[in-house]
Amino acid sequence: MSGVPDRSALMHTYAEPTVTFERGAGSELWDSDGKRYLDFLGGLAVTSLGHSHPAVAAALADQANTLVHVSNLFGNTVGPEVAATIDRLVGGGVDRAGGQVFFTNSGAEANECALKLARKWAGPGRFVVVSTWDAFHGRTLASLSATGQPEKQSAFAPMPEGFDHVDYDDLAALEAACDPANVAAVLLEPIQGEAGVIAPSSDYLGGVRELCTEHGILLMVDEIQTGLGRTGRWFAFQHTGIEPDVVTMAKALGNGFPIGACWARAEVAAAFSPGDHGSTFGGQPLAAAAARATLAVMEAEDVPARAARAGARLRAGLEMLDGVAGVRGAGLLLGAALVHQQAKDVVGAALERGLVVNAPRADTIRLAPSLLVSDDEIDEGLHILAAALSDVAATIPTSAAS
Ligand code: PLP
Repeated sequence: MSGVPDRSALMHTYAEPTVTFERGAGSELWDSDGKRYLDFLGGLAVTSLGHSHPAVAAALADQANTLVHVSNLFGNTVGPEVAATIDRLVGGGVDRAGGQVFFTNSGAEANECALKLARKWAGPGRFVVVSTWDAFHGRTLASLSATGQPEKQSAFAPMPEGFDHVDYDDLAALEAACDPANVAAVLLEPIQGEAGVIAPSSDYLGGVRELCTEHGILLMVDEIQTGLGRTGRWFAFQHTGIEPDVVTMAKALGNGFPIGACWARAEVAAAFSPGDHGSTFGGQPLAAAAARATLAVMEAEDVPARAARAGARLRAGLEMLDGVAGVRGAGLLLGAALVHQQAKDVVGAALERGLVVNAPRADTIRLAPSLLVSDDEIDEGLHILAAALSDVAATIPTSAAS
């Protein structure tokens, strides 16, 4: 391939990529050979407004020419405005929810903030955070400890103490783990993304909320993948009517510019005093300008409604495809469950045919396109996926496919 750089100076933490992208616009990407792709993964649920959105690009350029960074020793005019918008969106987009925000540079750091806040809020002795098996909360040592995937942890043992895991969607198991004498918080994804787009029963989050309230434990919702319109509401917890104590977000917040946030109810946020937590880059003007522009477009376009509508079309199309046994998820965070375990081959065949998706597990294709995706693009994506499924089906002996 032309234009592919020598990667030998990069640490080998990722599988060798088969494609190198050079340019993107909306739902389209072009690789270093000039081949066009339809992007139905959005950089892992990040580019929710599509690639190179003009309003975000203009805001970045403008802010880059005005003020990029000053440190948190000083104020800046952009971060507080974005924090107020986030607080309003946590409240459903109408009223301020009355919480406060800490800005980070990634999702893992947003969860790190939540974990530290929970310990500070609960006080000495109550430091345990209960999360769920198969959950993904990040790769820093603390967020990795909350991540319910022992295979990602074992090489880095010992993990920091104070993390317990229970089965997802099992309220009785959670109740048994929630000893108020030592548990500070429960940390949950409203839909488990990396685990394969797994949605819990409709009454699970409500039950968790009741349990946490009863025991005086914080309910912290990881909306890093599900937040900011993706599932058809501003935040996925809003499908259930519950009010969490802490909400973490990142991915889509800067439409690809790195910025995350940890929101907490004001009484909880008040546990932090100056000096308790910090980040050199967190909430700096450039990142905050990306978030301000992203959120402004998201509100103007009503992305939750668009995700709900486009998601219904995509889901209906996926359900019709040969080789798809069912579809999980909500809005435009969908997992197509296959009738076989060859999801990685389907992803490869789709890429070959010009569609970007991924396989969070052997039997599931994840789709997380731009929330501004058009009907024509959805139909084109479904057409390519159908062909990719058929490519792979042709290689599977009939007995293995059933
Ligand atoms: N939490 C969830 C639910 C995620 O999906 C991710 C990333 O995939 C993270 C946390 C970690 O975010 P980051 O990779 O930005 O640190």
